[in-house]
Amino acid sequence: MAKKESVAKKKERLSHIISGLRGNYPEPRIALDYTSPFELLIATMLSAQCTDERVNQVTKLLFAKYRSPKDYLAVPQEELEKDIYSTGFYKAKAKNIQACCAKLLADFDGEVPQTLDELTSLAGVGRKTANVVLSHCFDIPGVVVDTHVTRLVNRMGIAEGEDAVKLEFELMKLMPSEVWRDFTHLMIMHGRAVCSARTKPKCAECVIAADCPQVFS
Ligand code: SF4
Repeated sequence: MAKKESVAKKKERLSHIISGLRGNYPEPRIALDYTSPFELLIATMLSAQCTDERVNQVTKLLFAKYRSPKDYLAVPQEELEKDIYSTGFYKAKAKNIQACCAKLLADFDGEVPQTLDELTSLAGVGRKTANVVLSHCFDIPGVVVDTHVTRLVNRMGIAEGEDAVKLEFELMKLMPSEVWRDFTHLMIMHGRAVCSARTKPKCAECVIAADCPQVFS
């Protein structure tokens, strides 16, 4: 179905999929807790290879202790490693967070920048993290491609492949920018609840089964 489908048809199907998912998940939102762009930047960096629930547990204490880029640089890396230990990859994450904070102070007056190029110039910040921050804190739309989005768009025959950047550009062409942010959350919520990576997709109870060619029986 996906190979022969015209772009116009695919856009229409995707729009239908989004409407169907909105009916099931009326309030698509980010699962990470934050109160500022800086906190969301740190939380998103910590969320790599970690669940949002775990990150929220860790940031509850972390954000009380470290309130600004200066605070993260005021401790030895080992102390920060201990504070973020349970999010995994704690050595690399602590190193990146401190390098990121140093650059924020050196080049951006300690503020989180508001462009993709500037954000991705920070240590440990890729397009995914940058798009999360831009779309949630600065209303600059972006499609965030994580493992759920990758799996679902492939299963649904909306886009092909595992390359997150290619998928991001492909998806941007298929949807109006007003829905980019919600699309990501809808995919994540549906991926967790119904179209899982770990268990067989529950196609029989999937609200968008009629628009998905990959029906697992
Ligand atoms: S029909 Fe099945 S494969 Fe398609 S989105 Fe729903 S659960 Fe996933």
